[in-house]
Amino acid sequence: MIANLLYICLKNIVMPNSCPKCQQKNVVKSGIVNERQRFLCKDCHYYFTVKKLGKQIDSYFVTKALQLYLEGLSYREIERIIGVSHVTISSWIKKYNIKRPSHSEFHPLYKVFKQNELVDFIQNEENIKGFGLIITEFGDKYMMIKWERFRK
Ligand SMILES: [Zn+2]
Repeated sequence: MIANLLYICLKNIVMPNSCPKCQQKNVVKSGIVNERQRFLCKDCHYYFTVKKLGKQIDSYFVTKALQLYLEGLSYREIERIIGVSHVTISSWIKKYNIKRPSHSEFHPLYKVFKQNELVDFIQNEENIKGFGLIITEFGDKYMMIKWERFRK
């Protein structure tokens, strides 16, 4: 389920919303040119590429990966969630010189919700009270990270 989510999430970023020429949304992928994804507008037949596509994806995923790392998730868990290899994640941690305190006595739990499920979940105070929690956007869904440490 998390793997599916990631695919959706990546796809949203990779696919442009609309044609830069006619603004219609009928855009399909049409090969790679000079290491850039090329797209074709099926309405006006205009071909275009998206500049710095790789870079956009990177900064989004780097931020998410660093965030999850700081919250105590392992490289392997982050790999499963965002679909970027643990080797790459480890290189980002080094690049940005991220150090976290050790979380040996507790471990965060994470859960993925649709917007309406999230509302239902947080409506019940028992589900959130006493957890150090954060909610982060994930494609078209939301991820909640909970820490049981603070629960009495
Ligand atoms: Zn067009």
